[in-house]
Amino acid sequence: METPSNEVFRDSIATINEEGKRSWIFPKKPSGPLYEKRKVVSYFLLAFLFLSPFIKVNGNQFLMFNVLERRFNIFGFPFWPQDFHLFVVSMIIGVIFITLFTVGFGRIFCGWICPQTIFMEMVFRRIEYWIDGDRNKQMRLDRQKWDAEKIRKRLIKWFIFLIISFLISNIFLAYLIGSDKLLRYVKEGPSEHLGTLIPLAIFTGVFYFIFAWFREQVCIIACPYGRLQGVLLDTKSIVVAYDHKRGEGENGRKKFRKNEDRQALGHGDCIDCFQCVHVCPTGIDIRNGTQLECVNCTACIDECDTIMEKINLPKGLIRYASEENIEKKTPFKLTARMKGYIAVLVILIGVLLGMLALRNDVEARVLRLPGQLYEHKENNIISNVFTYKLVNKTSETIEDVSFKLRGIDGTIKLVSATGEVTVDAQGLAEGTMFIEMKQSAIGGDKKKIRIDVYSGEQLIETTTVSFLGPRSFN
Ligand code: SF4
Ligand code: SF4
Repeated sequence: METPSNEVFRDSIATINEEGKRSWIFPKKPSGPLYEKRKVVSYFLLAFLFLSPFIKVNGNQFLMFNVLERRFNIFGFPFWPQDFHLFVVSMIIGVIFITLFTVGFGRIFCGWICPQTIFMEMVFRRIEYWIDGDRNKQMRLDRQKWDAEKIRKRLIKWFIFLIISFLISNIFLAYLIGSDKLLRYVKEGPSEHLGTLIPLAIFTGVFYFIFAWFREQVCIIACPYGRLQGVLLDTKSIVVAYDHKRGEGENGRKKFRKNEDRQALGHGDCIDCFQCVHVCPTGIDIRNGTQLECVNCTACIDECDTIMEKINLPKGLIRYASEENIEKKTPFKLTARMKGYIAVLVILIGVLLGMLALRNDVEARVLRLPGQLYEHKENNIISNVFTYKLVNKTSETIEDVSFKLRGIDGTIKLVSATGEVTVDAQGLAEGTMFIEMKQSAIGGDKKKIRIDVYSGEQLIETTTVSFLGPRSFN
């Protein structure tokens, strides 16, 4: 089916030319109130990203995602593999929250919060403006032959980009292996930790490739969240939108002419100055309508508002609005779909809070030693051998740990040189134990027994296990 003529812009993306080659975007430097606000948000988030691996709460790193050792800290709370269910529920909540937010407010996350946009627009692009100048100067430099000026500017820029990419990689490593370990590795020198240095170099290369070359392609081609927009957005979603009713009028947009009565001539308020297109970091023309490439960065809103101000027309020709907003002038309303997402979200948050409240600081697991049944000892004593594992999720050492049988006659003997069990803060203690009981107390070939774990006199955890005995035939 042939694309309608007013939709042909959807046949290709702005960053690829007709020969299928990369079409480099030279966006104009944004300016305006929204850009200033985005700067504040971005610098706050950057400070958060760079500092949180070095912040400690009760001795725990504020945020840590140690996938290799399967240890996670979220807001200073340590999570173990045993808390995986909490992790899964948190992830589902995160996905529903983002979905709900996207249905309501489109790709606002991309423009204001996404690290890709923040690093690209607020760090790398700003360095580029500082070294190469604004859009026109960048285009001229690009066409320029490789003279001393171009070589100098390019080398400085690439070197700074590389340093920042290396810094970002180190921060990611601090999230992955922990900041204490990272600082220790730095102190001991890279030659001592080649196994870490190699992935660090690979990450640096990936970040450099993304921010120096791949850039907006991440949002347009690679990001799965961007791809979701097609199914999540509807005509009620608030997005960065061009008010085509106002901009086009009855007789379309037209270049500005002083002292011309545009209204009388039926022309819209858009003066076809192309500033919204020039400022766009993904190279699109928002006047064509909502497009997958738009990361809601608001640069075109600021730019068009500046133009409107200059020609004495009301601001907001490009603004945050929904399609219905523009077509029917209706205000924002919660749709049935949004209400459904909100209900699910509230329920899941309730479930998560309940699970967090019931979460134990100590986790005990007692398991039968594989391949072992029971041993018949003198005086009709039956013995079973088990392994135990104690996980201490707190930041304090648990001392003087003992195990006691609850409501049943029997003894527990730990296989330990000292007979003492201690679990380090954030640590794990493992060992073997024998449980012995009179055959008469078992009352069959299997009995469920309850084991209490104490620290001194304080009961810290309870677990159950099956005790095996000989089958009785009477
Ligand atoms: S900046 Fe505003 S006036 Fe200029 S082309 Fe874009 S929409 Fe039209
Ligand atoms: S269309 Fe506007 S909001 Fe969307 S990416 Fe371009 S400049 Fe940013």
